Amino acid sequence: MIERNTINHRRYDLFKAFKDNPMDKERIKKAIRELLIGMGENPDRDGLKETPERVAKFYNEWLEYDTELDCCEFIDSHKNMVMIRDIPFYSLCEHHLVFFMGNAHVGYIPNGKVIGLSKIVRFVNMYSRRLQIQERLTDQIADKLMSALRPKGVMVVIEAEHLCMSARGVRTPGAKTTTSAIRGVFAEYNKKFNPRQEFLSLLKGD
Ligand SMILES: [Zn+2]
Repeated sequence: MIERNTINHRRYDLFKAFKDNPMDKERIKKAIRELLIGMGENPDRDGLKETPERVAKFYNEWLEYDTELDCCEFIDSHKNMVMIRDIPFYSLCEHHLVFFMGNAHVGYIPNGKVIGLSKIVRFVNMYSRRLQIQERLTDQIADKLMSALRPKGVMVVIEAEHLCMSARGVRTPGAKTTTSAIRGVFAEYNKKFNPRQEFLSLLKGD
């Protein structure tokens, strides 16, 4: 228990430090130059001279750790499942610093409030543009939607290709990894009410 708290705390502090202290581009530049040398390259050759600068600029623009999002929800009597599928994303595998990418499918059952569909896309983007693992990305999107909207339930399915695996030939190129997260009523089902099945049918386009 203590250990778990320590880890969470450390993660929080890291994010906080990141927000208070914008990315150290000079440090990234130095590290990329070292990486190139480590690869046996000459970092001063024409094609590589500007690479450390370009990489630092890329990460600086691409990474996003801000989780603040003004949430505009609307009061609505809609009671059926709202689903948005095939939200494309790119994320960065924290184990290999190599991209994984694919589509996220997000569904929820409203509880008196709905949210703009563009906000759901924004949730996916927000949590993917950082060092990630697919399982955590899936959970974070589900939890964010639960806390932002307090719906009856949320289901998130992510299908992604991991370049760290497919490029190495560990898996057939193009092979997909699927993860899912369910919250609230999506864990319940009976003959008349099976939201998980409904979600999967919508996903298949039945
Ligand atoms: Zn990886």
